[in-house]
Amino acid sequence: MEQLKQRILAEGVIMTNEVLKLDGILNHQVDPQLIMQIGRQFALLFASEKPTKVLTIESSGITVAFATALELKVPMVFARRKKTLTTDDDSYCERVPSFTKGIVTDIMVSKAFISKEDRILFIDDIIANGDAARGIIRIIERSGADLVGFGVVVEKTFQAGARTIRDLGVRVDSIVKISSLDNGIIAFE
Ligand code: 5GP
Repeated sequence: MEQLKQRILAEGVIMTNEVLKLDGILNHQVDPQLIMQIGRQFALLFASEKPTKVLTIESSGITVAFATALELKVPMVFARRKKTLTTDDDSYCERVPSFTKGIVTDIMVSKAFISKEDRILFIDDIIANGDAARGIIRIIERSGADLVGFGVVVEKTFQAGARTIRDLGVRVDSIVKISSLDNGIIAFE
């Protein structure tokens, strides 16, 4: 999506050669019109898979997942992040390393909102190493639901995450692919 690329070039801040700050677009401030456009794009890409629910992780995935679910006319569920892992028969919990914070967090989805009849479309903001995605995939597997695809706004192709998820047989579609942040330059694939 050309508009998103232009916004990333104008507002993205390279923190290191692995981390791109997108606070003005995705992770702190959001532009509702741009987010709705991205949601429409994901809905178009995945409508044929007939998702029954859109699943994401709080907090930065929520806006895009909401926009996608609105277009697909299905509910959106967000996995909650928890400080402590409490074993709870009513929810699925998984422990995932956090790429940006350098800590481990636990993500949780209530069993009330995901069932084996569901066809889940997973939506997230950015993929790096794929740990968050793997946590969500484990939760979907445990629920018995089908994962019909993974839509991610920004895929950093110089990190292994998206490739490892595709290797699991999951369809991964991204809106933009960033191939490098080296030398202070945001390079798109
Ligand atoms: P992963 O689990 O794939 O290593 O990291 C995914 C999560 O870390 C994303 O949900 C995203 O919020 C955050 N993240 C990963 N890379 C970046 C980055 O370059 N910039 C920002 N702002 N967040 C990132």
